[in-house]
Amino acid sequence: MPRRVVIRADGAARGNPGPSSAGAVVIDADGDPAAARRPDARPLATVSDYLGRGTNNVAEYTAVVRALEVAARLGAREVELILDSNLVVEQLAGRWRVKDAKLAPLHARATALLRGFDTWSARQEPRARNHAADALANEAIDRALAGGSASVVRMPGEAGEGSPAEEPRSRAAAPELEPGFDPGDAGPDPGELTVTILGSGTSGGVPRIACGCPTCTSADPRDSRSRASALLAFGPHRVLIDAGPDLRAQALREGLDRLDAVLLTHEHADAVGGLDDLRRFNELRGGYLDVRTVPESLAIVVDRFRYAFDPGQSRFAGLPMLRPVEVAGPFLVGGRRFVPVPVIHGERVIAGYRTGGFAYCSDVQRIDPDGRVLLRGLDTLVVSALRDIPHPTHQTVEEALALIADLRPRRAVLTHLDHDLTHAGLERRLPPGVEVAWDGLRLAVPR
Ligand SMILES: [Zn+2]
Ligand SMILES: [Zn+2]
Repeated sequence: MPRRVVIRADGAARGNPGPSSAGAVVIDADGDPAAARRPDARPLATVSDYLGRGTNNVAEYTAVVRALEVAARLGAREVELILDSNLVVEQLAGRWRVKDAKLAPLHARATALLRGFDTWSARQEPRARNHAADALANEAIDRALAGGSASVVRMPGEAGEGSPAEEPRSRAAAPELEPGFDPGDAGPDPGELTVTILGSGTSGGVPRIACGCPTCTSADPRDSRSRASALLAFGPHRVLIDAGPDLRAQALREGLDRLDAVLLTHEHADAVGGLDDLRRFNELRGGYLDVRTVPESLAIVVDRFRYAFDPGQSRFAGLPMLRPVEVAGPFLVGGRRFVPVPVIHGERVIAGYRTGGFAYCSDVQRIDPDGRVLLRGLDTLVVSALRDIPHPTHQTVEEALALIADLRPRRAVLTHLDHDLTHAGLERRLPPGVEVAWDGLRLAVPR
């Protein structure tokens, strides 16, 4: 256990007061103190606590107290606090008086804990450098509002092989859910869910350009497959999963006149090529539209479509108005809860999405135990199956069927299909309960 630690702590409040939370990382600084002070230093322990309704300053102080308690439990003797709240830094140092009665007990607790260490220091750094703590705080609010547990404290050795924190999607992570966490909880006001397969084809679409194969020349309309995506309808709400290059045609075909959120599985062109067409939905809703995906994919999408993610637009002027939102845990859209599912696609972790009894996992190469544990007890699973020939980043039909046999949803639908497979030919060899997706297929999901 470390003698010396760096702590980055942060509080968050959405509204002041409003839903509030505390986040902190505790970093081992015994070896290389300079490395431990870097914003991206790997934490030894993390705190992500939802605090209910409160003020930002109470949240800031609570984050400091929780982090100091963790440092004390770790046996640290020297503590270096890095906070983005100047108020807390100055009050801990005794340079500013504590005038707010709500803060006095927290200040007293923090200073008592600090006296227990041999040495301590506190200094302020800008919020941008305190991103790790800020993210844990915001994750707590999102998690709690979506029905997850209020407090998640990760200590060394609790998440396997000396990799305590920040590796929730690790392949080695023990596939156990937090007590009380139900991935199938559909949220406070889920409504009835209807899913429409907007597109069922692989990245190049089917028919493929200039191809004379039986699927590409088939008279069966189900063999015409636009790029894979799905539309979720519940109550008045419409949520799009993936915005591929065929989005405009898909939206016209389905008479889509509203969107409440866009969830991306990842940043590949066949999943994001239609982002520009989302501008019509900005015009219809009169404001920004949330685009959610995992942080790594989101950063790439924001970079590639920089003009569409411009936060300074005051009114619709012909450009998409997209708000990037990182997916780090369960979240709500219109009273329905969504749980991200780690999916492996070419040695990358991308996002599948579960909501209630439904899950959509595209571009699956494989799903490890940490993803499968979130996909038990499904009514309907839509999952990709590219073709029969092995592919470096996509599972085959056979591999998809093995996954389905393990997960045992009531109903499974294969999507993201290449031109090797005709609808009728594939359908004939599938076991009961497994179907072939086609553009326009509607799925009613009980919850
Ligand atoms: Zn073909
Ligand atoms: Zn892909």
